[in-house]
Amino acid sequence: MLTQVPTKASKGAVLHSSEHIFARSLQNLGLDIHVRKADTFRSDGKGFLFIKEKIPLQKLFSAEAMVNELIPKDLKVEMEKFDDISAASMKYNNIRFNEDRLKDTQGIRVVKIGDFDVSACKNEHVSSTAEIIAFAIVNVSYLGGETTVEFKAGMDAVNYLVASNDSILDICKKYNVQPSGISQFVKNAADTINNYSSILEDIFIKLIEQSDRDVIFVGNVDMPRFYKGVHKFMQANTTRCIILLSNNQLFALRGKDNSFILRDIGSQLLDKKMFVGEVTEDYLNGKVIDYDRIKDVLLGLPQKLV
Ligand SMILES: [Zn+2]
Repeated sequence: MLTQVPTKASKGAVLHSSEHIFARSLQNLGLDIHVRKADTFRSDGKGFLFIKEKIPLQKLFSAEAMVNELIPKDLKVEMEKFDDISAASMKYNNIRFNEDRLKDTQGIRVVKIGDFDVSACKNEHVSSTAEIIAFAIVNVSYLGGETTVEFKAGMDAVNYLVASNDSILDICKKYNVQPSGISQFVKNAADTINNYSSILEDIFIKLIEQSDRDVIFVGNVDMPRFYKGVHKFMQANTTRCIILLSNNQLFALRGKDNSFILRDIGSQLLDKKMFVGEVTEDYLNGKVIDYDRIKDVLLGLPQKLV
């Protein structure tokens, strides 16, 4: 016999019922998900869903949209009791349940959300989906191969969505962009950065190419940005050996046809504690401890390292 759940649900019940709809939505997207735990009755009002599989972001957000489409349909949430899971499965062949949690359980309570979801569950629920108001994913992480979804429901979800909207509008006002054009705007900005990065790399490599010294003082550059370019340069210029000193990093590479002994200079700097890092026959890379003294040592080297 079906009985309706009492109205005026708690925050936990709102989160919990939304979790049922969300889990079923993921299943309806063709995913074979296994919920390890749904944590929705916490004192901080946060909702968490732990899924044993890695679920792609797009699927999670598609399911989120499905939950928000379903909520205003105001489906009734009803309960039904069965002696055991096999009796419940006989009536509802698509019932969701967690085998670990049903072990040795006498009597099963089934929670039905309209004809959308059937699940074995003992927790408190809303009486109809309209009480959920809204559902929002606020964070997704993939620690240890699991998917952890943090979500909000009810007015918490509405407030979260309003706040998110406000920050997007602030960006739009600041840069004079229409909200509908924000994703193109961000894409253009990312393309511009990538474009300038590659121009900067070309300039940096030209600087090395045209330098009449093999020791080059590069000031305040962010060296790791140029690793790839310098490696490529060395592959094409196997007779060169290049030492680059920035304000905080020493980086040197020797081409395979060059016989300058980088290890000697590296060991000297290490021993005198001017530098810490990696020193090999053909490579130096590490942190500058005493820039001025390193510079003095490097100025004592010949112009061409051969
Ligand atoms: Zn439940």
